[in-house]
Amino acid sequence: MSFSSLGLSEALVRAVTERGYTVPTPIQRQAIPAVLSGGDLLAGAQTGTGKTAGFTLPILHRLAANNGRNAHAGHRASIRALILTPTRELAAQVEESVREYGKYVNLKSMVMFGGVGIQPQIQQLRSRVDILVATPGRLLDHVGQGTLDLSRVEVLVLDEADRMLDMGFIHDIKKVLARLPRQRQNLLFSATFSDEIRALADSLLNHPALIEVARRNAPAEAVTQRVHLVDRERKRELLAHLIRENRWRQVLVFTRTKHGANRLSEQLTKGGISALAIHGNKSQSARTHALAQFKSGALPVLVATDIAARGIDIVELPHVVNFELPNVPEDYVHRIGRTGRAGAEGEAVSLVCVDEHKLLADIEKVLKRSVPREVIPGFEPDPRIQAEPIPNGRNNRGSASSRGSSRNHASARTRTESTRSLHSRETTSGRGRPAKTTVQASRKPVKIPTLMGG
Ligand code: AMP
Repeated sequence: MSFSSLGLSEALVRAVTERGYTVPTPIQRQAIPAVLSGGDLLAGAQTGTGKTAGFTLPILHRLAANNGRNAHAGHRASIRALILTPTRELAAQVEESVREYGKYVNLKSMVMFGGVGIQPQIQQLRSRVDILVATPGRLLDHVGQGTLDLSRVEVLVLDEADRMLDMGFIHDIKKVLARLPRQRQNLLFSATFSDEIRALADSLLNHPALIEVARRNAPAEAVTQRVHLVDRERKRELLAHLIRENRWRQVLVFTRTKHGANRLSEQLTKGGISALAIHGNKSQSARTHALAQFKSGALPVLVATDIAARGIDIVELPHVVNFELPNVPEDYVHRIGRTGRAGAEGEAVSLVCVDEHKLLADIEKVLKRSVPREVIPGFEPDPRIQAEPIPNGRNNRGSASSRGSSRNHASARTRTESTRSLHSRETTSGRGRPAKTTVQASRKPVKIPTLMGG
């Protein structure tokens, strides 16, 4: 099976071939013909499956094939394809893919998100933009200011729709939908299918084709999982010990809170191990910088919260450390899905203190297997230390967000993770309840090659 046999134009096949893709992934094999046919699509797939090319390539094909409208527009032209994503990082990565795959077709793309100046975006919107990749909040800011014309959108994509709902974007999405022409193609991508996603799909999609591929973020056989039991106060010391002893050069470390991420990265750096934190309270340029440094190998440790890390695709990431276990077991699976990619061996290590035994048990229930425990000599847990409630556990209510959904508040919002801006919204769990299609304990790893940013 080749890309050209899926019906894509030579210009697109050339671009993906140059990118190093030879064989379409399962989601691409199914999504590309479905989207090319012009119908709506409901796809169960998440980051790592090749979903981005799965919708980007056929959209580029269709727009390029019917390129009369904007091709010669000298000034402001209307958006023909609108791709909504939950996070800035994902928006940036998707738009990068659009540019890359579309480099031999005459279409213009733009990425739009908050946390950066609006004026350059307004400027950019004065020239031609065919494909717009945006986060919902800033998009609505533009709509409100009249700087964006959505009246001629031909294709709408909701990417990672479940995350968008988790993050409270449903009202924003509805406001956007109200601005779109009725006649259009709708593509909805979601990793899970909760009742909310089904309701959204029912209201949005017209006789959609249904596609579902194995969850790439379910633990791959290639990922070795381990738990190190350790005292709460000695986790940082143990992490530094593991990094040094094992000469780890690229470690993605997860914390539950933004504050925890900051503190840990500062402490590691003080101790001689360079680390940076990424989360929604960091400026966009700080996040981009940290990520670039980490990807290039210049920065050995990146400390991230769950949402900030989502959508980041790093080549053959060898080590993931759960400095703190997530409150929601599915987030554990997302986290460790970051390693063992590209058929490479990966290692996921969790530092678990006495407070977290219940969380670990919940995770193991989801995994349907137990994770081997290992005590590192010199870091034996002190049996006298009693479990303490986790400050940002499920039962704690966080501060309210101005635009968040009530579902978010009722679940595991945390005070430290409280919202600051629409796009930087972070939550340890926005899910009201685990979705039905959560985790398969084992699956065949999808072979995804080592290029980044799809
Ligand atoms: P995505 O799920 O869209 O985030 O893509 C995951 C990764 O797979 C990205 O690094 C893409 O560049 C890469 N990728 C997507 N499609 C293919 C393909 N057909 N062959 C090889 N790599 C791919």
